[in-house]
Amino acid sequence: MATEADPQQLHVDTFLVASGRPQRTAGSAVNVGVELTSTYAAEGAVSYARSGNPTWDAFEEALGGLEGGLALVHASGMGAISAALSLLPRGGTVVAPDTTYNGTGDLLLDHEQAGGTVRRVHATDTAGFLTALEGAHLLWLESPTNPLMDVTELDVVLARARELGVPSVVDNTLSTPLLCRPLSLGADVVVHSVTKYLSGHSDVVLGATVVPDTERGRALGARLRRHRTLHGAVAGPMEVFLALRGLRTLSVRFERASATAAELARRLEAHDAVERVRYPGAGAILSIDVQGGLEAAERVCAATRLWLHSTSLGGVESQLERRRRHPSESEQVPVNLLRLSVGIEHVDDLWADLDQALRTV
Ligand SMILES: *Cc1c(COP(=O)(O)O)cnc(C)c1O
Repeated sequence: MATEADPQQLHVDTFLVASGRPQRTAGSAVNVGVELTSTYAAEGAVSYARSGNPTWDAFEEALGGLEGGLALVHASGMGAISAALSLLPRGGTVVAPDTTYNGTGDLLLDHEQAGGTVRRVHATDTAGFLTALEGAHLLWLESPTNPLMDVTELDVVLARARELGVPSVVDNTLSTPLLCRPLSLGADVVVHSVTKYLSGHSDVVLGATVVPDTERGRALGARLRRHRTLHGAVAGPMEVFLALRGLRTLSVRFERASATAAELARRLEAHDAVERVRYPGAGAILSIDVQGGLEAAERVCAATRLWLHSTSLGGVESQLERRRRHPSESEQVPVNLLRLSVGIEHVDDLWADLDQALRTV
């Protein structure tokens, strides 16, 4: 039930605040409510809460407007990714980056084990994508990739997929619609882990899919909705309420975190304990390769006091993690790589803590 925002009318900051509100009438609430009900009296628009909920509608209106399409909220990012991967026929061929979010990577391995084909291309190898797309059934993209921070030429690759009639999905979690709106570049489906920036406070697990408001997009959206209803990865209304509350401040959080990330990237480039900084030039995530290998990288994680040593990203609190501590992480990721998710604390406090931790190596 999302409606497209008219970017001519409202700036994105304003839309974030204004969208997904109940209609204004005398005495009306300013926020959508949380309806704790599993069923609805017969003959209404919704009959059962596995297929709809007014809190979902409000969040979907806001996110749909942001991405320029029709949104569906799912129980988690992986719920959204599973729904999007259901567009891939059994035994079909999918083109994907050679490093993806590790949950997605595991589902792609399952697809191969079930007899399907995965053509893996390095995220920056545009020519490789163009070749791999011939005869494929689905294109999967993430940009920048996590945690190597490689950037794909989305416009070129998506345009070719469109020419060939290959449906495309972009995981837009790291960029957020503030940096990139894949539907405007020709993508058929956007997926989000709403858990991250969109919610922004490390207090919910949630996902979303978005499709264009076109005939082709609505047909794909109907398949995603059917998957959500029948596979049942549906969100609780309280989580969606919190996500919508978090979304209100997305632009101020993301702008602050991005400015701090750019400054930290600059300072880290000059740090003796850092071999390499991987920062795509925008956004609030960067990765560093620490001098001295795996043990040195672990010491840094153990030595921070302000930076939270934990998995996940996109919260107001800064987090760092050695990604290879997860056995499912790609072997392309160096063992001494730390991913830094920059929060909204003061840059000098973050720097002081990181600097003292890096001095332990
Ligand atoms: C976290 C994440 C996911 C998975 O989302 P969950 O909400 O944890 O299920 C998918 N893609 C990316 C890029 C992520 O960072």
